Amino acid sequence: MTDAATTADHGGEPLESGDSVQVRCEVCTAPLTWDPQADALLCAYCDTATPVPRGEGTIVERTFEEAGEAARGLGLDMRVVTCGNCGARVAMGEVETSSNCVYCGSSQVLTQETNRNVIRPESIVPLAVSKDEVRAGFVKWIRGLWFRPSKLRHVEAFKAVGVYVPFWTYDSNVHSDWTADAGYYYYVNEWRNVRVNGRWVRRMERVRKVRWEPAFGARDDVYDDLLVNASRGVSVSLVSALGGFDTTALLPYKPEYLAGWRAEEYQRDLHDGWGTAQSRIEERQRARCGGDVPGDTHRRLDVRNRIFGVRWKHVLLPLWSLSYAFNGKTYTVLVNGQTGRVAGEAPYSWLKIALTVLAGVGVAAGIVATQG
Ligand SMILES: [Zn+2]
Ligand SMILES: [Zn+2]
Repeated sequence: MTDAATTADHGGEPLESGDSVQVRCEVCTAPLTWDPQADALLCAYCDTATPVPRGEGTIVERTFEEAGEAARGLGLDMRVVTCGNCGARVAMGEVETSSNCVYCGSSQVLTQETNRNVIRPESIVPLAVSKDEVRAGFVKWIRGLWFRPSKLRHVEAFKAVGVYVPFWTYDSNVHSDWTADAGYYYYVNEWRNVRVNGRWVRRMERVRKVRWEPAFGARDDVYDDLLVNASRGVSVSLVSALGGFDTTALLPYKPEYLAGWRAEEYQRDLHDGWGTAQSRIEERQRARCGGDVPGDTHRRLDVRNRIFGVRWKHVLLPLWSLSYAFNGKTYTVLVNGQTGRVAGEAPYSWLKIALTVLAGVGVAAGIVATQG
């Protein structure tokens, strides 16, 4: 495996698209799987372990102008399974076969060549959650759900596939100039007509007023590793349900890390991703500038941002995709491969929901009855 080590050690230089690391066992030529717990490529047939040390190399963050210099392809011979239902393109080892999409479970899948022109991941968070932990987390999750069919508690058989999901990260500096009307509260006593016990009475009341004054200011902020989902298979809402990822755990990418695992090709490109990042920055700056306006309240806030020093990188973050069958239907559950947090779908028991709603109505009816 020394061959693979030298090929992988490209020091961030662009690679020819044809270059790829060989991840076959040097003893028996079986395909190897990277084991994040052992930091090694393992052979399932003859137990040979080839260490792949972590943390070598540098994670490079590039400017948009330097996008052309980024290496291409995954650096490993893989094929891609394209899902006709959700549109995800998931790469897997050449010898593996897949008849279902890892995300939506659809069987409308087409196996194709990988796109050798996609930007190579710059770094990766290795899967830190083992299959046993996934099993325990899944069982706990499914038993903790409300309003589900009772038999669901006994679902234990599932298929789990480790998949790396594509993201972009962006760093940038922002200078924001703002103007607004700052509002200061003051109180006056005014005569008011008010209704007391069905009769109009005139009385003195304390009334809040606002004094408006023009205000302006500026601030500088720094964004580091703003994560933008580049996946087609995992929705933004599902990613946030999975609780996000700690990017301080990122390691420089090595093609060996994908051996035996799945990796989704990004389908939202670098500039699409930047559009999303930019609107998040603008929204955040608006809130921050609003917080800077003196006084008690403000109106007519106008914020002008100058965003500069933008740097990006392409990263892969780990998930476990689980599918389980219940009453002839397949459900998908995702597990955050860094924290073990579970999010996914499960059938509802409409009977239990109906009973609870009826019980709720009954309680409400009871309250009305006692009050009447
Ligand atoms: Zn072997
Ligand atoms: Zn799919």
